[in-house]
This record gives sequence, C-alpha cells and structure tokens, in this order.
Amino acid sequence: MPYFEHKNGMTPESILQATFGFDAFRGRQRTIIETLTRGTDALVLMPTGGGKSLCYQIPALLRPGCGVVVSPLIALMVDQVAALRQAGVAAAYLNSSLGTAEQRAVEQQMLAGTLDLVYIAPERLLQPRCLDLLGRCEIALFAIDEAHCVSQWGHDFRPEYLQLAALAERFADTPRIALTATADGPTRREIVERLRLHEARQFIHSFDRPNICYRVAERGDSRAQLLRFITEEHANEAGIVYGLSRNKVEQTAAWLCRQGIAALPYHAGLDHAARTAHQRRFAREDALVVVATVAFGMGIDKPDVRFVAHLDLPASIESYYQETGRAGRDGRPANAWLLYGLADVVQRRRMIEQSESSEARKRIERHKLDAMLAYCEISSCRRGHLLRYFGERPQTACGNCDTCHAPPETWDATEAARKLLSAVYRTGQRFGAQYLIAHLRGERDARAARFGHTQLSTFGIGADFSHRQWGSLIRQLVACGYLDVDLAGYGGLRLDERARPLLRGEQVLHLRRVRKAQRPGERTKRRAGIAAEDAPLWEALRALRKQLAAAQGVPGYVIFPDTTLLEMVARRPASDAEFLALSGVGQKKLAAYGAPFMQAIAIHGAGSADTVDQK
Ligand code: ADP
Ligand code: ZN
Repeated sequence: MPYFEHKNGMTPESILQATFGFDAFRGRQRTIIETLTRGTDALVLMPTGGGKSLCYQIPALLRPGCGVVVSPLIALMVDQVAALRQAGVAAAYLNSSLGTAEQRAVEQQMLAGTLDLVYIAPERLLQPRCLDLLGRCEIALFAIDEAHCVSQWGHDFRPEYLQLAALAERFADTPRIALTATADGPTRREIVERLRLHEARQFIHSFDRPNICYRVAERGDSRAQLLRFITEEHANEAGIVYGLSRNKVEQTAAWLCRQGIAALPYHAGLDHAARTAHQRRFAREDALVVVATVAFGMGIDKPDVRFVAHLDLPASIESYYQETGRAGRDGRPANAWLLYGLADVVQRRRMIEQSESSEARKRIERHKLDAMLAYCEISSCRRGHLLRYFGERPQTACGNCDTCHAPPETWDATEAARKLLSAVYRTGQRFGAQYLIAHLRGERDARAARFGHTQLSTFGIGADFSHRQWGSLIRQLVACGYLDVDLAGYGGLRLDERARPLLRGEQVLHLRRVRKAQRPGERTKRRAGIAAEDAPLWEALRALRKQLAAAQGVPGYVIFPDTTLLEMVARRPASDAEFLALSGVGQKKLAAYGAPFMQAIAIHGAGSADTVDQK
C-alpha cells in the first residue's frame, strides 16, 4: 500500500500535530516513519531522548491494524501506555501483571481491530497462544524496542529476544523496526543477524547528547562535594547518584536525607517490592534523588532527570555513557558529574585482576578501563573523547564540557615524573602513594628513618611540590600505565616497562596541571532557567501536574513534561488556541487539561511584569 493512503486521510504531520502536539519532526523521524509505513523494515540507532517512540507509534496509527511493540520491562510498558492514552491513542499492554479478564478484554480489542498499539513482553509474545492470537489479528507492524537485548555480549542480554527472529518468517509481510540507543558496530551487526533484519534500512544517528554537560572532578571529601553539587546546582530536581557498593549506596542515601535532600537507595540487595516502590516513586516525583548501584538502569524513562553523578569510576565508557545518558532525555540542560581519584584506579584494576574471568576477557576489560581513565585525564574536549570511542569523528570541541569551559593547563612533567619514578625505584618498589609523597617532600618520620630512606638521593628532592600536586602526578602516571599498583599486596607502586624511556630521558611527558580546588560547577553551572519572579508560577504548575497525575496514578511527565510547563511559564497561554500551540499539547490534552492549567496561569502568573496587560 502506498504510504499516503492512510486510515481516515491522516498524514504523519497531522498525527504529529493533532495527537502528539509537536510542530515538526526531529532529525530523520519523518523518513523512518515513511519507510515503515510503506512496509519496509528499519533498524534505528538513536541516542536516548532522540525520539524513537514516534518512529513506530505514528506508522502504527497510519497503517491498518494494530502495532505490536516488544518491550522488555513491565514498568516501562505501563508508563508508555499511560502516556499514549493521555494523547488519545487506543493503547494497551499484555503482560503478567494483568488478570485473566483484563487480558481477555485486550485480546478482544485486538481481534476487533479497535486497538492502535499493544505492548507485549517478549516471553509472552513467544507463547504459542499469543502467536496464534497475533495470527488472527491484523498487525500493522512489529517494533522491537531495546533491541540490543538480543546481544549476548551486552549488559542487558535477554535470551527471549533471540527467539524474536521467528517473527521474520511467521509474519513475513509485516514490517519490523528494531530500535536501540546502544552504539557500537558489533552490537549493531548482532541485531541485524539475530533478528534477521538483513533487508532493513538502517538509520544510524549520532550518539551525541549535546544538552548533557560532562564534568570530572578530582575526588576530595566526596560527600561534601556531592552535597554542594546537589544543593548549588540541582536543588529541588531529580537525579541519580551511582555508587559501586550496596553499602555505600545505602549510607549515602541515608546521609543525603539527613542533609535535607529527599533520597532513596536502590540496589539488587533490596527486596523486589522495595525496588519497585523506589523506582515508582522516582518516576512519579519531581525532585527525588535515587542513590543506586548499576542495578538501577533499564526502564528509567523519566525525561526530567537533571543530573547523573558518579561517586565511583565506571568500568568502561559504554557503562558510563549508558548511565549518564539517563539524564536530560527531555533535551534540557543536564549534568553528568564524576568524581575521580587514585583510589578509583586501584580499585577498578583490582576488580579486574581478582575476577574469575579468563585472561582474554581480562585483557578486554583492561582496555576498556584504560579508555575510561584516558577520559578522566584528558585535557581536550571530553565529549570528543566519548564520541570518538563510539566511532564518530566530531570536528570541533563541544563547548559544553568542563574542559571546554575551562581548558586545563598542561605542563612539562618530565622532570617531576623522573624524580618520582626514581624515588619508587630507590625505595624498593613496595611503598604506596602517601609514603612516596612524604619521601619526596623530605618529611622525616619514624618509618623513613628506620628504612634508612632519609639517606637516599631522592629524599626531599620534591619539596617544591605540594601533597596535592604529587598526588595528582602519581594518579596520572598510574592511569597512563607508567606505574603499576601491587594489587595482591598493600598497594605499593612499581615501575612498569613503559617507565623506562621516561627514566632514561628519552621521552617528554605533558600532563594536566592541578587547579586550585575548583568549586564544582563554578564555571559550568547550569540552572533550570526559571527567573525568580516566575518561580511561584512554575511551582504552582508543578503542583497542579502532580495532583492530576496522582489522581490517575501516572507519572507527572505523562500529563506534561517539564518542557511544556516551561513553555507555559514563558508564554502564559490564555486561550485554547494559545494552549494548543504549546509543544506537547494535542487535541486530547487540550480538552483534558487546558482549563485547569490556564486557570493556574491566570491566578499565579499575574504578578510578572509582561503579563499584567489585561485584555
Ligand atoms: P527515546 O525513546 O529515543 O529515548 P522518546 O521517544 O521517549 O525518546 O522521546 C524523547 C522526548 O522527545 C519525549 O518527551 C518526546 O515526546 C519528545 N519528542 C519526540 N519527538 C519529538 C518531536 N518531533 N518534537 C518534539 N518533541 C519530540
Ligand atoms: Zn567539550
């Protein structure tokens, strides 16, 4: 069927505007929609927040029959279906949370052809009963969301996804679209292979997330740093704090609460009910901080997460990018903030060496860690490093990361590094960073005297450097692999092979200069952009949204995302036409929410200067 003969004369544009309330397609959404509507398979790689959902939702509305969306998480399905219903789309889901009667009702709707979209968990879809049902319905398309779950090497592998290949034969005439935000080439090839998408048209987008500001701060007192970061830059906003251990996560959450910040822990050690409850609260509340291990991940669809903070170094750039990618899905400014110090390097290296993995696997993990460390130590654009890691070739510095905001100075560290390496060598390659720093600075203590180290030529040759400067140099030399840490023993430092040319004076070394303790975000601070005089209106709109959402048991952003509320603050709509012109307002939402929001604007928005001109 040619794509322009749609149900009821609808076009992609008319649906975009009337149903979803948006003016224009983003990026290649329009082409993807056309491709799928025409009946051609598609593979879509688009970063989080890029707008993947519309790519199959609109074709499902344009094509005859019901669109089937395979989605791995029940929590996610529930919120997506709620959002679609808010927009007036006939959507439902089939999963284990439904009772028999509810399930039958959905099936009846599918058979009767009255559903536009149905979300189904993969294990359910593959049951003979469900396949049989689908065989008797008119199916508009299959959308396979989070398609990287088919990859056995990835972090989110779901065995059921492998069986989705069966759809290719069983429903040979029905177009399929696979979507993911996971970037790399091998995963992409695996998706094509395993889902039999050889004929699919591929849409590979840049993985850049321009609204996320990437920052790395040198670890000091991490709790105080975190608290300052949240209170100064993200007061009253939602965010995720990642920590490595369950213990740390628990304690940090409790500590934040004592400091007056609403925070909840999330880790795999919590029972299922607690995890579900915490995730649910995070989705539904505007200003909750979740302190979590990596267990908190997939299924976080919340668009207004304003920051992701890492208290510990992630294992790889893949994980880091995935985790930070949960910030700012709505396209508004967001921060990715990472604390980093020598202890992180040592800890991560130890985790690799002490794991049960094969030597081949460890080698890969070491490479991944090295790329992560290089990211932390880099003195050029951080985004550039991330994008190059994923195979992109950004041409310019981004202007929205800490190194772009305040380019770090580099210095010729050759001489200092040689002093340090000599000190390591002369003291017998068995002492840790603190001892070596004291040694270089010529601090006399009992141990130095007992070992006779005060007699060495390296004793006190580095008195012109502060503790912090030596600490930074050691960290950088460890990160770059000139020094190894004795992971089995007490963390003593040893020379690596790579140190040789440096010691012999055959190599010059340039490193980042330590800055005076920069207050995090001093220069790179990003605020929500609400002027003081608009704050009462903003808060009133948020409160109204919360109340409406709670009454229906849905997350607030399903009613209106922050972007729409911000537009209301800026434009103060006072008529249906003005309200409809807001991004994210379609016919259904105008009818449901136009009146209460315009009332709130009339009451709370009157104080501000540019709105007092009464009609
Ligand atoms: P993804 O699944 O790729 O992470 P979503 O489909 O959830 O992204 O879309 C992210 C946000 O962008 C949503 O709030 C969505 O409503 C919005 N969005 C998508 N397409 C458009 C568009 N063409 N114009 C305006 N907003 C859009
Ligand atoms: Zn940059």
